[in-house]
Amino acid sequence: MKKILVVDDSSVQRKMIIQIIRKAGFQHEIMEAGDGLEAIGVLGENFEDIGIVLCDWNMPNMNGLEFVEGVAQVPAVAAVPVVMVTTEGTADKIAQAKAANPNMKGYVIKPFTPEQLKEAIAPILGMS
Ligand SMILES: [Mg+2]
Repeated sequence: MKKILVVDDSSVQRKMIIQIIRKAGFQHEIMEAGDGLEAIGVLGENFEDIGIVLCDWNMPNMNGLEFVEGVAQVPAVAAVPVVMVTTEGTADKIAQAKAANPNMKGYVIKPFTPEQLKEAIAPILGMS
């Protein structure tokens, strides 16, 4: 079973997101990163195992948009699907991120329910 990488600068947010992942019924192993830069490192070392990245937008060092742009430029990891988890729910920002990385497969707007998360990620993990 593939792993899920949760990227958020707030450890409290990461815990909440992980709780919601569990409540939604996903039993995948979960990895964590505190910003986009750390996530690039984790992804680089584990890209064969990671089936999806749930990525926050606002983070220090490397934000979510910079992260998806970075991922798109590295062939080894460019195919790993990224779902943005964000309060930045404007159509403009989402279109911007999708343009930057065709592997940005969707988004969920905070706060979200286990059902909303499931809808966004189950098809990507081949579980719909
Ligand atoms: Mg944040």
